[in-house]
Amino acid sequence: MSEPLVVVEGLRKVYPRSVEALRGVSFEAWPGELIAIRGRSGSGKTTLLNLVGGLDTPTEGRVVVAGHTVTEMSERSLLALRREVVGFVFQSFGLIPVLSAAENVGVPMRLARFPVAEREERARMLLALVGLEKHANQRPYELSGGQQQRVAIARSLANRPRLLIADEPTGQLDSQTARQIMQLIRAVVRSEGVTALVATHDASLISLADRVLELRDGSFAAAEPAA
Ligand code: ADP
Ligand code: MG
Repeated sequence: MSEPLVVVEGLRKVYPRSVEALRGVSFEAWPGELIAIRGRSGSGKTTLLNLVGGLDTPTEGRVVVAGHTVTEMSERSLLALRREVVGFVFQSFGLIPVLSAAENVGVPMRLARFPVAEREERARMLLALVGLEKHANQRPYELSGGQQQRVAIARSLANRPRLLIADEPTGQLDSQTARQIMQLIRAVVRSEGVTALVATHDASLISLADRVLELRDGSFAAAEPAA
């Protein structure tokens, strides 16, 4: 029997001069699971994902990812965790404008010092996985929003992460493109065997998730099965 990839226990976050953004949140995510984190703007989705990915530290509580206690790690270990275990996808794509699609996908592998040939081969493979093999040499501004997010997804997979964290990955896309991106994430979770936490407040995308966690004002509402 496998173990959960992510364990979150009693997570609280109080920002300076702010209300409590998370009020004691707990859940587990299992290998291969796609979990949608739903909740309106301000409900705490980004705060939760940032804490799970080691981008921020909680006021209270514990996060364990792939056996590493994120909430007790040094900055240096967190950097390694974010490079080696977690892949991030953001609403705003976050691509480097002067680099081609293939070079953007190659960035995490460059940081991890992959040999050039392996890097280029894997970048090609990942762009094919997201349906962009013919666009490898285009810069972000020569791609549509949906294509840019595909590049960002390919990049997030470059270092074979076990956990994919996507914060409103379709927030800047029209609804049809949004659906295609969610279907791509669904397919990638299956083919790469990763666990994914995807924040979204788009109800039409929830049906693709294995499980839905609903945040309301920093707490989980009663869990419900995916439609
Ligand atoms: P969501 O991603 O669901 O929109 P957030 O996690 O961004 O929610 O925000 C949750 C709450 O925490 C909101 O009330 C927001 O205003 C507050 N908040 C978020 N980030 C900060 C910050 N850096 N400083 C102070 N308050 C913050
Ligand atoms: Mg947010």
